[in-house]
Amino acid sequence: MKLTFFGAAHAVTGSCHCLEVGGKKILIDCGLQQGRDEHDENALDFSPGYIDYVLVTHAHIDHSGRLPLLVKQGFHGRILTTGLTAELLSVMLRDSAHIQEGDANWHNQKGKRAGLPPVEPLYTLMDAEEAIQMLETVEYGWLFDLCEGVKVRFTDAGHLLGSSCVEIWATENGVTKKIVFSGDLGNEAQPIIRDPSFVDEADYVVMESTYGDRNHEPPESYAGALADLIDEVFAKGGNIVIPSFAVGRTQELLYYLREIKRDGLVQSLPSFKVYVDSPLASEATKIYSGNLKGYLDDDAIAVIQGGENLFTFPGLTLTQSTEESRALNDDKTPKIIISASGMCDAGRIRHHLKHNLWRAAIVFVGYQGEGTLGRRLLEGAKSVKLFGEEIAVRAKVVNFKGLSSHADRDHLLEWVEHFAPRPQQVFVVHGDQEVTELFANDLNQRGIPAHAPLYEEVYDLMTNCMLAKGVALEVKRTTGGASAPSAAYVRLQDVSRSLADLISRSRGRSNKDLAKLADQIKLVMEKWE
Ligand SMILES: [Zn+2]
Repeated sequence: MKLTFFGAAHAVTGSCHCLEVGGKKILIDCGLQQGRDEHDENALDFSPGYIDYVLVTHAHIDHSGRLPLLVKQGFHGRILTTGLTAELLSVMLRDSAHIQEGDANWHNQKGKRAGLPPVEPLYTLMDAEEAIQMLETVEYGWLFDLCEGVKVRFTDAGHLLGSSCVEIWATENGVTKKIVFSGDLGNEAQPIIRDPSFVDEADYVVMESTYGDRNHEPPESYAGALADLIDEVFAKGGNIVIPSFAVGRTQELLYYLREIKRDGLVQSLPSFKVYVDSPLASEATKIYSGNLKGYLDDDAIAVIQGGENLFTFPGLTLTQSTEESRALNDDKTPKIIISASGMCDAGRIRHHLKHNLWRAAIVFVGYQGEGTLGRRLLEGAKSVKLFGEEIAVRAKVVNFKGLSSHADRDHLLEWVEHFAPRPQQVFVVHGDQEVTELFANDLNQRGIPAHAPLYEEVYDLMTNCMLAKGVALEVKRTTGGASAPSAAYVRLQDVSRSLADLISRSRGRSNKDLAKLADQIKLVMEKWE
């Protein structure tokens, strides 16, 4: 009985763990890696054809985004998840395929001019459709036989609609081990959905640690604090651009903005307009407005029973077409634009940043992973490159804390300390490099054996010992931030010095050669812009 870590090892994205029991291979999540450099091909380091089952904890793309790739590369097993996760996946995987196809197109247009062979998208819409067709649903609390010797139960992780912790009872040679995968654990102060549920026992726990090093500082009233910020920016005539995860965070924002409107909390412009400019967010909002019986918290149920829609209010527009999206930049009235992706690495938000970075307020309401454009902005980058243009950052950049879909340090500890007796080993995943180590140390000091596995670590669950240590993956570093440059970047700088040297030594060569050299350098630059 073995556990291998194929993602979110010393990192926050790419969740993918493989449990092997009785000759069956069960993947828990198959997420996309985001904002990474050295390993950003998102290749699967195992043969999908040999995987028998995938259990998906929730619909966020860093937990689900490689499902279509898995299917494309020969997976024929079963994929199980909760009903609402399946509904959300049906829009999210299509959207992800759309981004993959768009990225490949963009590269190919550039590559054509440089005479490069075409690249294939990671996966296509057809692959995504196929993966969606394969989704089978279960509900919270059902205890079912996955296969001989393996029982499974999904419980509410309180992180996103449909999100789950997965409990697995695995039996091999008459010995049963219980393994619990936390998925992403929710924040207790989160609106709309319920709080995460506790799990009583486990031999092994694989748990997230996104906020393993800090506690949230929620404002006394989130709606009140957000309204004050909106008032301040609108009074100066500026726009507010909010990069937001299309699924989950956007609906939470709409929930609070409905309250702000209802209570007239923005005095400078009470009739302010709000645009959700993300087709994915619009689709997800429809799902959030559907039948959520068994998934909502008490406050949300009370609002619905009062006859109100949780996510609709006067002045709200869900834009669809790219023309509508573009028109937002021509309209000079102060407004709120909510757009995806949440970490600014893809999607329409990049257009809005391009048009607003020099004047508006950019309000971050979610976690920004290492190596993402969002993190660079938060770290105070003076300028950023968007669509080949260097854009000066003159906007007020605000990190609006308090709204988080992840449990903070105290709540993570509370969740893991609930297990009785203590687990034999806790595997700390899904956190930034230093945070996973720190949180694992924290657990050890509290008497809970724990460590943060490296990529491709293999662990024997029968003997409770590590079989293979795994490897450390490099994380993309940016030049503008406080982080040290990677070895690859230092090498690039060396090469650039040699190039400058070559150019100075080329003085006196024939004009024909100089023109040829200039053309070649230009070609390389165009390729990498
Ligand atoms: Zn998540």
